[in-house]
Amino acid sequence: MLKCDFGNLHREVALLERAGAEVLHLDVMDGHFVPNLSYGPLVIERLRELTNIPFDAHLMISDPGRYLDEFLQAGCEAITFHVETVEDSVGLLKRIRETGAIAGIACNPGTPVEALESALPQADLVLVMSVEPGFGGQKFITSALEKLSRLKNMVGPETLLSVDGGIGPDTIEESARAGAGIFVAGSAVFDAADYSVAMSELKRLAASATQTNVAEF
Ligand code: ZN
Repeated sequence: MLKCDFGNLHREVALLERAGAEVLHLDVMDGHFVPNLSYGPLVIERLRELTNIPFDAHLMISDPGRYLDEFLQAGCEAITFHVETVEDSVGLLKRIRETGAIAGIACNPGTPVEALESALPQADLVLVMSVEPGFGGQKFITSALEKLSRLKNMVGPETLLSVDGGIGPDTIEESARAGAGIFVAGSAVFDAADYSVAMSELKRLAASATQTNVAEF
């Protein structure tokens, strides 16, 4: 939720629901960890009243631990923070898990997989950024594929692998083959004339690339 029409979130959520979105991925930016600002818990709280689709808050913010409780209280089922923003990733993942939420950790394109390694046993979800975080509409960075493949071999089958940035019909198949089970699509849906058509096509491509069903959240 970055390329959506912020002037009409009610309609956007209804359209996404009808299109079969399985997760709403909420891009939170603080103007510090990333150059842009987006929205925070107050907006998410209002969104929560509009739908039962699970929320994953992607916290592109410098001190995620400080705001964790607010995002949980706003109704997020999953919280994903950046490994680059905290000293104790394991501690924060444990804190998220203890609340019953899905604990996610994300890494920027320039961050090596090794930086995540010690945190993986505590992570329910690992998000690989395939663009620099902070803006929508960027081109997919292909080094994300190798990262996904390596992570796939490092985590158990229960860990959700997510890919975020530049996901569309041209990139979703290779992302699925590399091991991703959650595909964060922005422009590919919001720029489409019909969200349902765009999302069905993305789901079909992802599923046929792996000959299996796309992971349920
Ligand atoms: Zn995101």
